[in-house]
Amino acid sequence: MFRRRCSFRIFLLFLIIFGVLFWLQQMFRSSTRGDSSKMESHVLAVLIPFRDRFSELMILVPHLHRFLTNQKLTFTLNIINQNDSLRFNRASLINAGYLLTKDRADYIAMHDVDLLPLNPNLDYGYPEGDVYHISSPQLHPKYKYKKYIGGILLVTRIIFEKVNGMSNKYWGWGLEDDEFYQRLKEVGVEVNRPGSEIKTDRNDTFLHIHSSFRKRDYNKYFNQKEVSRKRDRDTGLSNIRFELTSTSQLVIDGFPCQVFNVKLFCDYNLTPWCDTAFATKNRTRKTL
Ligand code: UDP
Ligand code: MN
Repeated sequence: MFRRRCSFRIFLLFLIIFGVLFWLQQMFRSSTRGDSSKMESHVLAVLIPFRDRFSELMILVPHLHRFLTNQKLTFTLNIINQNDSLRFNRASLINAGYLLTKDRADYIAMHDVDLLPLNPNLDYGYPEGDVYHISSPQLHPKYKYKKYIGGILLVTRIIFEKVNGMSNKYWGWGLEDDEFYQRLKEVGVEVNRPGSEIKTDRNDTFLHIHSSFRKRDYNKYFNQKEVSRKRDRDTGLSNIRFELTSTSQLVIDGFPCQVFNVKLFCDYNLTPWCDTAFATKNRTRKTL
């Protein structure tokens, strides 16, 4: 009788030990699952093409830092500062910014310095459909045409490389985003945009802090106009030429961002309109 009771107790003890071990194993599993999902989480590099817009930058950096932190995203803010005497080239700065940050991010946001997202439902998360146009033509305060993809655009690394980045032929204001749209369409990428989760409209989804004294460089020299309307098959991420002259960490109101000072190079035979002084001197010539 005593031996039977004793073996029952031993059995019970084993049962308890087994139970505890099983519970511990489950706990360990779920905690490692948590870790691995953290390791798999996405990293966003915000690329801000920039020159001489310091007052806008002072507003954007703290605003966007708070906005993206509220969305619990892992991100860096990168100012790609054009540091040469050539005309502004937004697309080439984005190509350069991409190459400078790609090892530390798996998707980018091309982000104008003067466009502030206001509606917290504007989602800067990883674009599962590869490309997500945040500042959609339904919501942008100024640009309304259907194929518009400028302002703020999320693109995965995979797609940015697949389309060879952006064209390097766009010096001065505009159309580089329309050319990028053609690159995306060619590889069959859909441009997704915000939907019914956004209850605000064109007037209160974004704030475009573009002062009237910030003049856009609309000049067209040589055959720039014709070339700008065509899909560019000559240039892109693979042949962007730039020099990183210096970098600095900037902290605005306690919010950090990385500044990349970039000097772009121009092939005067391919795009003689890259340099205002040169272009005005030779303005009568249609092509070089
Ligand atoms: N930009 C800049 N300096 C310039 C011109 C343009 O920093 O001299 C950058 C800036 O990020 C700006 C973006 O390029 O938001 C687009 O230019 P802009 O605001 O002139 O174009 P919009 O979309 O207002 O027509
Ligand atoms: Mn603007």
